Amino acid sequence: MLTSRVRTGVPVDLLHRTATLLLITASVYLSIHSETQAHSADQPRLPNFVIIFADDLGYADLNCFGSSYPDTPNLDQMAREGRRFTSFCVAQAVCSASRTALLTGCYPNRVGILGALGPGNTHGIHADEMTIAEVLKPQGYATAIYGKWHLGHHPQFLPTRHGFDEYFGLPYSNDMWPRHPTAKFPDLPLIEGERTVELNPDQTKLTTSYTERALKFIEANRDRPFFLYVPHAMPHVPLFVSDKYAGKSSRGIYGDVIREIDWSVGQILQTLKRLKIDENTLVIFTSDNGPWLSYGPHGGSALPLREGKGTAWEGGVREPCVMRWSGKIPPGTECAELAATIDLLPTLAGLAGADLPTRKLDGLDIRSLILGESPVKSPHEAYWYYWGDALHAIRSGPWKLHFPHPYVHVDVPGQAGLPGKLVQLRTPLALYNLEQDLSEANDVSAQHPEIVAHLTALAELARDDLGDSLQKRIGKNIRPAGQLTSATGANSK
Ligand code: MG
Repeated sequence: MLTSRVRTGVPVDLLHRTATLLLITASVYLSIHSETQAHSADQPRLPNFVIIFADDLGYADLNCFGSSYPDTPNLDQMAREGRRFTSFCVAQAVCSASRTALLTGCYPNRVGILGALGPGNTHGIHADEMTIAEVLKPQGYATAIYGKWHLGHHPQFLPTRHGFDEYFGLPYSNDMWPRHPTAKFPDLPLIEGERTVELNPDQTKLTTSYTERALKFIEANRDRPFFLYVPHAMPHVPLFVSDKYAGKSSRGIYGDVIREIDWSVGQILQTLKRLKIDENTLVIFTSDNGPWLSYGPHGGSALPLREGKGTAWEGGVREPCVMRWSGKIPPGTECAELAATIDLLPTLAGLAGADLPTRKLDGLDIRSLILGESPVKSPHEAYWYYWGDALHAIRSGPWKLHFPHPYVHVDVPGQAGLPGKLVQLRTPLALYNLEQDLSEANDVSAQHPEIVAHLTALAELARDDLGDSLQKRIGKNIRPAGQLTSATGANSK
């Protein structure tokens, strides 16, 4: 076939074909694009999520959870507008383990992060694990964390590598700094993104600066779905409070600090209301573990629960939890069913229509508990209380069975911000009915051998799956933490 040519030497029919192809491509693009626009306009907007995570706050530190101190008017108001969860548990009563569980939906020993990581650690969250932020990202969520991370401080472990668009905060605990009363630590970095912007920052400003950034983030993302995570450094010791709350509580500096956290919650709730997005935002407030009783008046209270931080007793793992979602959660209600921080990943994923990670999770969807819809029943047949890689107890329904294990008890509480005197105790096998005996005071194992046998059988599933160092058992389904590949450029200032 003869082909006419223009001056460029390009065959004319080729030009025609190219132009036609471009037109088809453009019309297909426009059609898909306008369909997407129409689709998103018709669809209800995906919900926003805000998780506010206090550090070492006790079960009884909020007025709406039994505190006699009127330090929490905003959280009490949040409870009147939302739902209190009175049997809400963390996975382990210590910082890194608890935070890892919240963000990954897994028991922390499944993903290899235990205890409280510090500046000397060379491991952190594994690149193959998925955080809530990573799960929500494909759904178009803006994500931010302002506060304490504690899943590894080297760049490869930081929030910006694990689904968060923005990070400002401390990489580990606020007491891991040169002013620690009994241990040696290097300078404490305050990190923005992946860069250290300050060393040993003025901690009286932390709660305020986290809050200000949270409010800005909400404003900036008012027209799109967002996930905001605010893990406060407080009320973990050493306690610091800004001038606006210093000396305001009758409870001393611990009460002042609680007042400032309560103020922060109030600011976030008011901003959501002002922007008219509170009906599209689920707000969750809870704590990473129970009170650090060793610090006496600088620690909180879990009463009437037994013990506190660092133990598998209820005072360590059961936290005050309030959720608010205007128009969705029935106001002024309470849920006494067992729920846990590991449930938040699958629950938020469900609410956002996001895909779950393909790796095994431990958390379960608790939408019905949050929304007060049928069935209002915990999805957990059994809940496992590990301390490190040792199985200390197991719960099913109201029954909690402690296996013989050692635990640390505060013999003499400290004063003036110093730790107290500890003793190691040991519990024998003991069964408690938490509905009748919230303080785990009356062992009823002798009266209920069939329940002991049932819980012991359920514990075998845990040991098979995750192991139990008390029985020298290695679990079949534990996964490794991430290991430091290179410290190059590690948070260089
Ligand atoms: Mg803590």
